[in-house]
Amino acid sequence: MAKELSRTDRAIVRLADGTVKQQNLLTGTEVWTVPGRGHRPMGIPRSEHRPLDPSHEGDHCAFCEHRYLETPPEKSRLVRDGGGGWHELSGLPAEKLGATTAEFRRIPNLFEIVSYKYWNLNHGHVPSEDARRRMAEYLASSEGYDHIMRVVRARLLASGLTEEEFAAMSETSRLHEANGFFSGGHDLIVARRHFVDGAADDSQLAGSGTLSPDEHYQYTAYTARTMRDLYGLNPQVRYVAAFQNWLKPAGASFDHLHKQLVAIDDLAVQTEAELDRLSSQPEIYEEILRVGATRRLLIAQNDHAVAFAGFGHRFPGIEIWPLGGPIEPWQADEERMRAVSDLLHAAHAATGADVPCNEEWYHRPPSVATPMRWRILLKWRISTLAGFEGGTRIYLNTIDPWQVVERVVPRLEEMRESGAIGPMRIGSECRVAPRMLRD
Ligand SMILES: [Zn+2]
Repeated sequence: MAKELSRTDRAIVRLADGTVKQQNLLTGTEVWTVPGRGHRPMGIPRSEHRPLDPSHEGDHCAFCEHRYLETPPEKSRLVRDGGGGWHELSGLPAEKLGATTAEFRRIPNLFEIVSYKYWNLNHGHVPSEDARRRMAEYLASSEGYDHIMRVVRARLLASGLTEEEFAAMSETSRLHEANGFFSGGHDLIVARRHFVDGAADDSQLAGSGTLSPDEHYQYTAYTARTMRDLYGLNPQVRYVAAFQNWLKPAGASFDHLHKQLVAIDDLAVQTEAELDRLSSQPEIYEEILRVGATRRLLIAQNDHAVAFAGFGHRFPGIEIWPLGGPIEPWQADEERMRAVSDLLHAAHAATGADVPCNEEWYHRPPSVATPMRWRILLKWRISTLAGFEGGTRIYLNTIDPWQVVERVVPRLEEMRESGAIGPMRIGSECRVAPRMLRD
């Protein structure tokens, strides 16, 4: 019995047999959840938990704190002083890296998605005066010189060069390979811990949700500042993608918490699609929020942000939207950034560190005038796309948005009670109206 569905019904509707169909109001993506496939455990099943060897403390992977010299020279770090205050230290020389413990570090990615060579050869990008000076200073100490040569060698060997070929390279061409460390467009923000403090076995990874709300705020604000900085890398930078892959099924190469930021010379395909939709439906964001509010998808809310179960995405998950008029991530004042961070942190904590997930930031790039909205999507990578999706472009989710709400809300209530997350309204306590997206 086909009947005409309103746009809000198309956004999410439960059919007579229990199938839930969703449509993304921005992109048109179709998602179905068929009954009987949910309620499976979401985390990665681990057959054995290996006890941690205390002698490996700080040394579990190349992002760990005793291995600062295995990653490219860091751009900056956040440290805490004795009184609990936070400070950013920029451009430390190699010999000072061990003098403080970085709570978060901003480092160039050793294997860039868009490389320095890409920017150099396609756009004539060269290191700025500052970047050149910083590189010269770094190389001036023997520790710095050795560090860079080791990392260049590691990268070249990993990308297929033989020891003989590396040995035959001139010093100049080896140093040329290091330009990307000082003037590249793919940075990582790496957290301090690999495992939670006091972890006994290797199941206790330190994910976003295991940070304190204050640590998570610093992490989020640092990411936003890095994004602004990368827009200044080159005039041809049109978009800076920011994301976090957590655990291998979500694309992470290390089980050590980090975000990635990648400058690209094009708008994201998602951005183009969203701009198209916005030109014909300028009220689309308010409509999405109305669906969230009226279809019982709300998860949490504080003074400046709201979280709701995402609908019409390839994977189930949680969306975090700043309230008020649209702003860019780096424009958020501390209060608003804390509000967004608190909800994102709570979403991670309720998801659990054993669930592979992608955190994706959406925002308006500076070259675009249309008021696109900054928001963050946390996607649970609990299923694998298969032939059905490839052939139909209809995506199957094992759990529907209402089941996301059911899973998350009780966990948030417990964590609010114990003080593990920031203050917020949860589930049915939320009061959201589309006008809250205006100033
Ligand atoms: Zn590690």
